Amino acid sequence: MKMHTFKGGVHPPEKKGFTANKAIESVYPSTNMVSIPLTMGGKPNELLVSVGDTVTRGQKIADNTDCLSAPVHSSISGKVKKIETKLLADGSTGQCIIIEGDGQNIESFMPKLDPFTCSKTEALERVREAGIVGMGGAAFPTHVKLSPPKEKPISVVIANGAECEPYLTIDDMTMQERATNIIDGLAIATKIVGAPKALLAIEDNKKHLLPILNEAIEKSGNTEISLVLTKTKYPQGGEKSLIKAVLKKEVPSCGIPADIGCVVLNVNTLCAISDAFRLGKPLIDRPLTISGAACENPKNIVVPIGTVLADLIPETISLKEDLVKILSGGPMMGVSLPNTSFPIAKNTSGILFLNKKETDLTTESQCISCGRCIDVCSCRITPVMIVKELAAGNMAEALRYGLMDCVECGSCVYVCPAHVQLIQRIRTGKQIRRSEIAQELQIQEKNLADCGKVMEADCGCGGDK
Ligand code: SF4
Ligand code: SF4
Repeated sequence: MKMHTFKGGVHPPEKKGFTANKAIESVYPSTNMVSIPLTMGGKPNELLVSVGDTVTRGQKIADNTDCLSAPVHSSISGKVKKIETKLLADGSTGQCIIIEGDGQNIESFMPKLDPFTCSKTEALERVREAGIVGMGGAAFPTHVKLSPPKEKPISVVIANGAECEPYLTIDDMTMQERATNIIDGLAIATKIVGAPKALLAIEDNKKHLLPILNEAIEKSGNTEISLVLTKTKYPQGGEKSLIKAVLKKEVPSCGIPADIGCVVLNVNTLCAISDAFRLGKPLIDRPLTISGAACENPKNIVVPIGTVLADLIPETISLKEDLVKILSGGPMMGVSLPNTSFPIAKNTSGILFLNKKETDLTTESQCISCGRCIDVCSCRITPVMIVKELAAGNMAEALRYGLMDCVECGSCVYVCPAHVQLIQRIRTGKQIRRSEIAQELQIQEKNLADCGKVMEADCGCGGDK
């Protein structure tokens, strides 16, 4: 089987052995409570319930009429106890709906819907109503991904089974346990966008999946779907890197995969799509990996969305005394969190409990201009120059060096001998640029209101938008 790859990238120690091949256990919070974030991807939602309301598992509890929003559903049946602001899994804070379970798990799913006989509009509405967002990390609303503009026809859908982040094994286990659902979800997504073919891409450290996935494809009778093997390399699971490896095509600067006729969906997102049609089930459960050397019993689990991490300790997760860091996500792109009081969200693919040995505590020193950060950048931008220009206050130059094209993969930080805080500075630079764009848009609106003249807001990348 031909091996696909992309230029750049790194190969950090995989550390998947902690949870490799461990079956996904279904677990429940010890407190019988969930804290469901009001918004988990897309535009901010509005509450559809009040304190004291009784809810069922699968009932919609927050939504927004904006087309870029994704509704949120209750993951257990019970009573709404509180609406309060909490720490979230991405390190920010946000409103959560606190629900106390009634122990009955009464379900109210949508009616089943045949994805191959319903209309495209009905199918897209089902994906939206199920509240499906990208489960690989980005949490972008899936119905939006599946609705590219007419002038951008989709020629291929790629199922992303690369799972290149060290430690994480939940996509691997989902592919082992739910291969049929993944292939079904892929066939549904392919039909919705009208693509003539679909690919399921995995890294070559998961060759054990080949017979399982081949069998599922064969059983489906779908001749449009085929498997692709990619070289194990980080960030292979990043959309742009995967497209580059598999299709040898580049997503334009500041563009999206649809610009080159492609849609990429994580394998767990595909399971959620299948469930939304076959069971009428919204996205209310989240499979994830619990790992790291400071965890006594690393495992793959599935929990009701909104389960607070602290409510799994110690019944489900035992921690060692040498714990120094809690990460939501993998070690390359994950977010460090101060405690375990946050709820597991739709895009939480793993929680890592790391000890001192696993945590890089080296302090930053002077850049030695070695160029390694440039060599490994799969986006072919120049992190060292971006950071230098940002430090000098030259936003225009930072943009020219590719600031807004950084996918924040962390490869540059991983290889930097001086431990320069490249990614943190790039993130800050991107935030500043986004605020500038927002201000420019406000000025445009004001100009339009004042005299009908609109000045063009430019992200500054010089590329296609
Ligand atoms: S890898 Fe680090 S030391 Fe080398 S050029 Fe980049 S920022 Fe400087
Ligand atoms: S500059 Fe951005 S995209 Fe390039 S290696 Fe660093 S974090 Fe990744």
